[in-house]
Amino acid sequence: MTHLTFLGATGTVTGSRYLLEVGDTKVLVDAGLFQGAKELRLRNWEPFPLRPGALDAVILTHAHIDHTGYLPRLVRDGFAGPTYVTPPTGRLLHAVLPDAAHLQEEEARFANKVGSSKHAPALPLFTVKDAQAALGTLRTAAFGQRVTLRPGIAFRYHRQGHILGAAAVELSIKRSGDEHLTVYFSGDVGRYATPILKEPEPYPGSSYLVVESTYGDRLHDPGDPAEQLGDVIREGAQRGGVILVPAFAVDRTQEVLFLLRELLEDGAIAPIPIFLDSPLAREATEAYRACVLEHDAETRALFREGVDPMSPPGLTVVGGMEDSKRLNALSGPAVIISASGMATGGRILHHLRQRLPDPRTTVVFVGFQAEGTRGRRLQEGEAEIKIFGEMVPVRAQVRSISSLSAHADADELTIWASGAERAPEAVFVTHGEPAASQALAKRFTERLGWRCVIPTLGERVTL
Ligand SMILES: [Zn+2]
Repeated sequence: MTHLTFLGATGTVTGSRYLLEVGDTKVLVDAGLFQGAKELRLRNWEPFPLRPGALDAVILTHAHIDHTGYLPRLVRDGFAGPTYVTPPTGRLLHAVLPDAAHLQEEEARFANKVGSSKHAPALPLFTVKDAQAALGTLRTAAFGQRVTLRPGIAFRYHRQGHILGAAAVELSIKRSGDEHLTVYFSGDVGRYATPILKEPEPYPGSSYLVVESTYGDRLHDPGDPAEQLGDVIREGAQRGGVILVPAFAVDRTQEVLFLLRELLEDGAIAPIPIFLDSPLAREATEAYRACVLEHDAETRALFREGVDPMSPPGLTVVGGMEDSKRLNALSGPAVIISASGMATGGRILHHLRQRLPDPRTTVVFVGFQAEGTRGRRLQEGEAEIKIFGEMVPVRAQVRSISSLSAHADADELTIWASGAERAPEAVFVTHGEPAASQALAKRFTERLGWRCVIPTLGERVTL
């Protein structure tokens, strides 16, 4: 008997965790953190529904923390590995997990200092030491390589283009004779025709499909992201202020750097100092440069011509915290790119606290802002937001570039799925806010004739 249990990413875009049980073999696909609203974050503290030591393997789709950030906790609580990753994901995780742990530790320390936590003392969900232990369980599997987990249970990664190293997971379970049950986990589906990375591989068909639906009810703005970014930079520079870009350290930062270089080289924007102020983004950018097998033809050609596509003229990579603080004295025009992308933590918070009250400031969001995050509040035009326990008035201009996204929109998800050579017996639509999952389920039912199910948290199905 094979069972699939949805332990996260139901009714929300975070906390991806899917438990596949084949007889007494237990495999967890993704080990994500819940992020965003407090009610979601509290779920990270709930006991895991089974003994982590009972898991035979964890398979991670990509390095984003909402897919990987629970791994240190699992390892601390007894999971001994192996944890499978693609080689680029492994490289990114060596930066991403310790950084997440560091943020957790800092938050706990801050909460204890100002007494803002109801828990005394406030504790980090996991520590840098836990993150290091989690990294010790990683085992790499190349795209396309068949990995046998147990006799009769194997999996393979397929390139998904969402961020560096991102993959879909195709699990194959031997039934009688030559018959196989296949379960295909989309992970996060990337987009077509975006810079730097190769495109997603089409979905080939499977017995069952678990598909993300972040943008299941929306189409991305068809505008040209370079043009839109150029407009925002010109407008912000004219006001003389600093243009703050809260950017996801992995992928969005590299894309923004790529676009800024193009805009500057084409003369579409005037020369402007650019500061990359995120140690994680710096390391991720190094990984993007190094993983040449993942580059699309254009990026490969640029490197061959001796151009570093992610180094715009005027770029300063900011080092330690002191250098970051020195940016407080900076008057515009200038661009500061800093993480985290939804303003839930990281150095961007210092910059926002410093610059949101200044009407010359521009804040440009370049990615999805989940419900309950500061980023979403700013996008919704709130007059003040809380940072480090204080209310900060918002007088800055807030802009969003919706054409920039690492996620396929409803049309792209449909294109990705419709390559299937056979219809899945059922599609489980996950990783979306309720309206988005419902819209994608309706779309797949109407256009592809597929039976779609939107699972609820903790729901267990027999395959
Ligand atoms: Zn992702």
